[in-house]
Amino acid sequence: MKSPKKLMWKIFTFLIGFCALLLLILWIFETTFLEKMYEGVRKKEIKNAIKLVEDNINSPNLDNIIISLREDSEIIVSPSNSFVIPNRGRHSGKMKMRQAITESRDFVTEDGSVVTLVFYAIISPVNATIATIKVQLYYVTFIMIFLSIILAYIIAKAVSKPIEDLNDSAKLLAKGEYHTKFSGEGYREIHELSHTLNYTASELSKVEELRRELMANISHDLRTPLALIYSYAELMHDFPEEINKEQTDMIMKETSRLSSLVEDIFNLSQLETGNMELNISKYNLSESIKNTINSVAEFVKNEGFNIYFEKEEDVYVNGDEVKINQAFYNLLINAIHYSGDSKEIIVRQIVKNNKVRIEIEDFGIGIEKENMSKIWNRYYKTDNSHRRSIIGTGLGLSIVKKIMDLHGLDYGVESELGKGSIFWFSLKVA
Ligand code: ADP
Repeated sequence: MKSPKKLMWKIFTFLIGFCALLLLILWIFETTFLEKMYEGVRKKEIKNAIKLVEDNINSPNLDNIIISLREDSEIIVSPSNSFVIPNRGRHSGKMKMRQAITESRDFVTEDGSVVTLVFYAIISPVNATIATIKVQLYYVTFIMIFLSIILAYIIAKAVSKPIEDLNDSAKLLAKGEYHTKFSGEGYREIHELSHTLNYTASELSKVEELRRELMANISHDLRTPLALIYSYAELMHDFPEEINKEQTDMIMKETSRLSSLVEDIFNLSQLETGNMELNISKYNLSESIKNTINSVAEFVKNEGFNIYFEKEEDVYVNGDEVKINQAFYNLLINAIHYSGDSKEIIVRQIVKNNKVRIEIEDFGIGIEKENMSKIWNRYYKTDNSHRRSIIGTGLGLSIVKKIMDLHGLDYGVESELGKGSIFWFSLKVA
């Protein structure tokens, strides 16, 4: 493929071409059409003169009008065809014979008599005039070419320079230099484009940062259980006769930690990439929550957990049932994980002002004030090192946040350290 011309040269060629076209039109008009146009103008003048005479044929001023016609427009009005076209100038012999348009008209006077008047308009312009126009044309052409080259250069440079600068910066950005600054000035589009590119660069750098952080966290989270599993398996391999329940339990626990991590990462990436679409429908929120509580309660029954559901009537809402249920599930699981010794969880459904608020309350470890806003962030875990015993990926609440934000719902947490937490969200009743 032929590589396209540089923008500057394109603009330059275009402007020069435009000027050349203008000059060409000027030349054609000045040389070829000059006489024709002059003839047209003169014909029009004769027409006006005839009209003037016609209107004033009976006026005592007629003679003056005829004189002024001759003086102002060089139109000679004569009573007969006998008029000889005057040939002015000393070198008249060398000059072209002067031409004239002649038009004769009959006018009826007041007393009924008919007067024939002949109108002459000299149309061949004097040669000197043509020569002057030509010289002028040469000058104009020269000046225009000169000016248009300068102008074309300046305009081309002004338009293309900021684009070239932006392009250079964009190439750096493409190479992964996310801190590239775009500073295109000059005109609004370029200004806006550089704003957009700066924004893109900052977003890209955030994504890149996030990706790095995510990879570091994921590999850390994968490495620890894998190392544990490996060491327990090694132990069992070396001392098969000493295999005990504690070891197999540990392997099972770590495996399940791994699968919940994988599950959370999958859910989050699904929510964050293309699958942002919500499948909104009207459904029975109370029923859905009750089912989730029942299956979770069944699962943790043996560990002594009690989950209570406080509600009055069944409530219907509009929303994506699967996603809202997933959010609720994550909150409930957290309540179980962080409920400490209390092992008691209360889920409340409160209907007020056409809104339904779901609260998940635990009486466990609670959250410190300063951590309250951070817990919704991806991979945030309070006090990372000490809680290995608690299953957690640090992704649960960021999934909840994503789902709530997608729905545009209100949600939040009230908590007191050592006393417990209430996580809540609220929806409009359908
Ligand atoms: P994790 O998988 O670690 O639970 P989450 O995103 O679900 O990740 O939660 C982030 C952090 O918020 C948790 O590590 C925990 O410190 C805190 N947290 C969440 N729910 C509760 C709760 N009910 N009580 C106390 N702390 C909580």
